[in-house]
Amino acid sequence: MNILVINCGSSSLKFQLIDAETEAMIAKGLCERIGIDGSRLVYQPTGGEKEETVTEMPDHTRAIELVLEALTDEKTGVVKTLDEIGAVGHRIVHGGEKFAASTIITQEVVKAIEECNDLAPLHNPANLIGIEACRRLMPDTPMVAVFDTAFHQTMPQEAYLYGIPYEYYEKYRIRRYGFHGTSHSYVSERAAQVLGQPYEALKIIVCHLGNGASVSAVQNGRCVDTSMGLTPLEGLIMGTRSGDIDPAIIEFLAHKENLSIDEIMEILNKKSGVLGLSGNFSSDFRDLESACAEGKEEGVRAVKGFAYRVVKYIGAYAAAMNGVDAICFTAGLGENSPEVRNLICERLGYLGIALDQEQNHKRGEDLVISTPDSDTKVLVIPTNEELAIARQTYALVR
Ligand code: ADP
Repeated sequence: MNILVINCGSSSLKFQLIDAETEAMIAKGLCERIGIDGSRLVYQPTGGEKEETVTEMPDHTRAIELVLEALTDEKTGVVKTLDEIGAVGHRIVHGGEKFAASTIITQEVVKAIEECNDLAPLHNPANLIGIEACRRLMPDTPMVAVFDTAFHQTMPQEAYLYGIPYEYYEKYRIRRYGFHGTSHSYVSERAAQVLGQPYEALKIIVCHLGNGASVSAVQNGRCVDTSMGLTPLEGLIMGTRSGDIDPAIIEFLAHKENLSIDEIMEILNKKSGVLGLSGNFSSDFRDLESACAEGKEEGVRAVKGFAYRVVKYIGAYAAAMNGVDAICFTAGLGENSPEVRNLICERLGYLGIALDQEQNHKRGEDLVISTPDSDTKVLVIPTNEELAIARQTYALVR
């Protein structure tokens, strides 16, 4: 069965068509600038040429229509008719406390996702627009919602409650939810396979280090803690997000700079992280690492600050699980930067970790990068959220 995986943002839409039996990707692409001038579709069948089409996309329905046309195109398409798409898997950012697992989309599920809009006002409405557009164009095709938050719903109360009046949890469900769950789940399970050990018997820390970044503690196959919180702003220092700060900074800045709450949130989400820390030099780790290698102060500050925060979370989660068997690196930076992995792991000697530098400098595959005699294993596992979504969709609709 072919599964169409859709990741719908407010003005963009990424897609992949995956053969669920062989797990091969058949085609992929994205729509950019939906509802904005200069929108374009990028489409690439596996093994074929990448095509770029600049065309009007006033809304998401038109964008999905164009994706379906590309997939069924006589010349460059990969399926003859839409009947060859057996199901659609939608990435949904926030499932609140309602969804601890993926689910077949029904009218009630759509309503329940809508009820989580307050918790993810930028993401969930866009995800819902993607669902509605697909349902309009493929009314008989089953659809599945796969939530970024679901994997983290196993966290114990002591890990998910904040130290604020309990009534705010009761009234508004303010608590830690965590994100990147599909990736943390995929990577931790894959790590157990690579190590040839039962997932249910391991203590694993997953470091998902991309533009958005989070760490999770996975004990016996269940998430017990994660660094992102009510929103993706908490935790690590990210590309442009601040991660953990003293909340009193908000009041302090509001007074000193005469800023509104909205303006401060914009700064914390879009102008902070390594971008802010580097004095606006760059949010991209490739630039920062080059600057760091040249000894430029702005690069050193950002990269060291980033790595230090990861080290602290690893320590916290090793403590939370009373030990750790494996640490996994994934996502853009985690998969591709031996330097950042070195910077982090050189401070983990107390866990009996040493890196095999030859392994650490390999690319693009599942790897154990710690030396054979390391007490705690260190792995690089390329994440594949689309495949994980396709698997979960297939499991529910087959
Ligand atoms: P997201 O999905 O959150 O947008 P990604 O997982 O794609 O992010 O990661 C993007 C980050 O990975 C960027 O900061 C980018 O610079 C970094 N990255 C990608 N390739 C490399 C590399 N070869 N070396 C260092 N950093 C890299």
